[in-house]
Amino acid sequence: MKVLHSFSELSATRNQINGTLGLVPTMGALHDGHLSLIKKIRPHVDNVMVTIFVNPTQFGPNEDFSKYPRQQQADLAKLEGQADYVYLPQVDDIYPDGSKSTIHISGITEILEGKFRPGHFDGVATVVDRLFRQTKPSHAIFGEKDYQQLMVIKQMTAEQNHPIEILSAPTLREVDGLATSSRNAYLSAEERKTAALIYRNLKDIQSGQNSIDTAITNLETAGFDVQYLTSEWNRLLVAAYLGKTRLIDNIPLKD
Ligand code: AMP
Repeated sequence: MKVLHSFSELSATRNQINGTLGLVPTMGALHDGHLSLIKKIRPHVDNVMVTIFVNPTQFGPNEDFSKYPRQQQADLAKLEGQADYVYLPQVDDIYPDGSKSTIHISGITEILEGKFRPGHFDGVATVVDRLFRQTKPSHAIFGEKDYQQLMVIKQMTAEQNHPIEILSAPTLREVDGLATSSRNAYLSAEERKTAALIYRNLKDIQSGQNSIDTAITNLETAGFDVQYLTSEWNRLLVAAYLGKTRLIDNIPLKD
């Protein structure tokens, strides 16, 4: 596994990569969900590159950019034997000279996450576009865990004419159903138990056992502050705060 610490290291190496390249963009604090993306893209490509970059432009001013978990050595240990290349850019590599031009995807970014996290998807579309231009992959993979993000990236890829096949992977979950996430580390032991109610309530709507309104009431009663719980793109999508931690999840509307 070759570790590339800068855009210049990436550029020098990129020309020597033979065959197709599958890109797995992440913000690090790697878990089994990230590793499932590598496993899913592997049979489609000759080489797999993981990127680890906590992208400042996708965090709002009052969000968790500074406290987002950073654990580079543990991440590299997890990737050993899984990835062929790891690109660890610095902020300057992605935003040289503080470059401020952004990519804005209209329409789908105005609802749900876009409404509660203004500017978030500009940051996401911009960083993924820049990572695509720098790494020149043939394929890239994103998790359904961030379903709206997946939609935004597909649209950005089409609008920017990137000749890249976008793959997606289902959400990996903990045994109690909570979607695996780097942000789960923020939860106290008690919150961690309560967090399983998100998936349980989504499943109860899916099976027809509960209405969306009842599920919202259940979550609020258990201590969540629900930002949205709604259906779109034939999926049920939710965002809710539990204490200071913001959790998102989604499942198909029909099993
Ligand atoms: P992040 O590091 O949170 O930006 O996530 C990097 C990629 O991993 C994104 O495409 C996410 O959608 C995906 N991902 C995050 N959590 C999971 C999960 N539990 N299962 C599958 N993919 C995930």
